[in-house]
Amino acid sequence: MQDVGVGLYPSMSLLNHSCDPNCVIIFEGYQLLLRSIREIQIGEELTISYIESLMPTSERQKQLKRQYCFECDCCLCQDQEKDAKKLAGEEPAWKEVKDAVNEVKYPKSKEEWEKVLAKCQHLLSSHTSHLPDTNIYQLKLLDCAMDACINLEAWEQALCYGSRTLGPYRLYYPDFHPLRAVQLMRVGKLQYSQGMLPQALGTLKQKPLSGVMCLQNTGSLTSHLKLYITVGVFFFPWTTCCFKKCQAHSCVLPTVLC
Ligand SMILES: [Zn+2]
Repeated sequence: MQDVGVGLYPSMSLLNHSCDPNCVIIFEGYQLLLRSIREIQIGEELTISYIESLMPTSERQKQLKRQYCFECDCCLCQDQEKDAKKLAGEEPAWKEVKDAVNEVKYPKSKEEWEKVLAKCQHLLSSHTSHLPDTNIYQLKLLDCAMDACINLEAWEQALCYGSRTLGPYRLYYPDFHPLRAVQLMRVGKLQYSQGMLPQALGTLKQKPLSGVMCLQNTGSLTSHLKLYITVGVFFFPWTTCCFKKCQAHSCVLPTVLC
C-alpha cells in the first residue's frame, strides 16, 4: 500500500474499532462506502479495523495504543487464538524475514525489483523447512515475491508464489474481506493469462468474488477488472486516514488482460 492522499469523513469516523471487524471501508473515487464482510445480527455494533489486522495481538495492541490511545479488548485480542499460527515456525527465521520485508520500499525500476526478487528467493529457499506459509511474515514475503515477479513479467513464477498465499489469506481474511478478493483476482488473472481457464474460473468463483459478481464466461473479465480496481486500489481500513493505493494495481495485470 502507498499513501496517495488524505480524506476526512466525519460520519464514518464514528465507527469503532475491532481487530475482527464485521465491516470494511472501500472507495469508489472519493466516495467512501461501508461494506459488511460477514453476516451481522440485529443490534450488533458495526465495526472496522483501524489498523492492519494481520499483525499479531501484541503488535496490534502497541499500534492502537500509540496511534489511537486505547486498549482493544475485542474477542481476537482476548483469546489471541490466531497468534500461534501467525507466528508459527522458528523465531529467528521469521524475525529475519520480518526485517527483510520491512526494508522493501516500493521499488521504482526493473533493477530494484530484480534485487527484491533475489532477496525474496534467497529467504524463501533458506527457510523452506523453518517457516510455514501461514506465518504472517512468510506470507508477506510471498506477496512481495509475487509483486516482484509481476513487475518483471515473470507470470509463471508469480502464479507459483500467489497460489501459496491463498490458503493463508483464507485463514486470516475469511468471508467477504476485500483483501482476499483482490488476492483471488490477482491469482485468477495470472491463471487466465497462462491458459489455465478452468483453474482461473475456479479461483474467481470463490466466495469473496462470487458474492459480488456472476461468472458466466471469460468475457466477464472486464467486470473483474472493475471490481479489482474498486476493492484493490482504494481499500483502506480506517476512516479519517491516509488514502492508500494498492501498489500492485498498476502492475498486477498481465498486459494480455488489460
Ligand atoms: Zn482487538
